[in-house]
Amino acid sequence: MISFEQALSKILYLADKIDFEEVKLEESYSRVLAHDSISSRDQPPFDASAMDGYALNKIDKLPSKKLSVIGKVAAGNSFDRTVGKGQAVRVFTGAPMPKGTNSVLIQEDAEELENFITINQIVEKKDFVRKKGCDYKSGEILLQRGKILTSFDIALLASMNFPLLKVTKQPRVSIISTGDELVFPGNLPDSNQIVASNTYGLKALLTKWGATSHILPIARDNISSLEKAIDLAIPADLVITIGGASVGDHDYVNKVFNKINVKHSFYKVAMRPGKPILAGKNNNTIFVGLPGNPVSALVCAQLLLKPLIGKMLGTSELNNIEKKASLQNDLPKNGGRKHFMRAFFNNGYLEVSQKQDSSLLNVLQKANALVIRKPNEPPAKKGDLISYLDLD
Ligand code: AMP
Ligand code: MG
Repeated sequence: MISFEQALSKILYLADKIDFEEVKLEESYSRVLAHDSISSRDQPPFDASAMDGYALNKIDKLPSKKLSVIGKVAAGNSFDRTVGKGQAVRVFTGAPMPKGTNSVLIQEDAEELENFITINQIVEKKDFVRKKGCDYKSGEILLQRGKILTSFDIALLASMNFPLLKVTKQPRVSIISTGDELVFPGNLPDSNQIVASNTYGLKALLTKWGATSHILPIARDNISSLEKAIDLAIPADLVITIGGASVGDHDYVNKVFNKINVKHSFYKVAMRPGKPILAGKNNNTIFVGLPGNPVSALVCAQLLLKPLIGKMLGTSELNNIEKKASLQNDLPKNGGRKHFMRAFFNNGYLEVSQKQDSSLLNVLQKANALVIRKPNEPPAKKGDLISYLDLD
């Protein structure tokens, strides 16, 4: 049995290449940027009026001064003459500042009569000019490789004039549930059966993390059924089985992985929940066998598969980040495995659930944090600062 830390580094080691593709800007939401984005233009590209008003030279911006209005320029247009002393040009927001002007008198600060304006007694001193390049300049790195694209990133990239983006390819994942006892939601379980649940939670997590996935038919607890399901799973970059990973008479995942020549990376990890977890690789496909218990499967997915997907996508944003907060209840000495306890974080405090059985989905659904306890850690007291991860 290996430590959790060893398992994490071994599983990450299995992801050894990142593929790229080009997508349309409008289809890039949540994708991972494949290279740094460098601006090839200044934004704004010219000095622009920030208000509706009159462009003038600021030495003319004096109370009661009368100026002649020699023209008009709106956004998208230009004014080709040079504006002289005692002159102004009617401008609108976004219009390029005419030559000879460096300040805008907002329209509220003047009275216009025919082709003249008279400046009010009280005037705003500000220039209301957006200087060329005040947002960003040509040559600036605005977004870094590995960024998961948000809506604001996409707006920025659009302003940089990128219609297409190079992003990393989404890992293709196949999910195989195993067990004679399982039916999919919507079917009528007989009296000995249960409804597969973690399968769907896992698919949702994979979507959130940026992978594409599909759920394959349930593999029954025998070698040929599982082999058939795996045949359907390829080509996939990652095949995840759920359940059947321990060493019971009805656990076939390890045997089938061996049979199809998955080169084992590890089997069994000193963690709770989820000791029976295995991983390996065959050609370019990574195989991971998750434990079947709903909480084990989903917590192990967050702890090991989330950073794995992150590495396959070329981003560090999916790494689980340890934080610290105060415990709200006492905890007993931890056992020999690293324990990730379901907890609720609120207002700086962590309340660890009394119920830690790995089958309790209702507890998991109400939790939002995983309190981390190192192997054999001594008892912890209410008020102690303790490490935790945000759940999911
Ligand atoms: P196993 O790892 O196959 O021994 O399964 C451990 C427990 O998890 C058993 O009670 C299974 O019935 C349950 N289980 C296995 N797979 C799933 C699944 N996809 N959804 C919900 N429960 C499951
Ligand atoms: Mg089973």
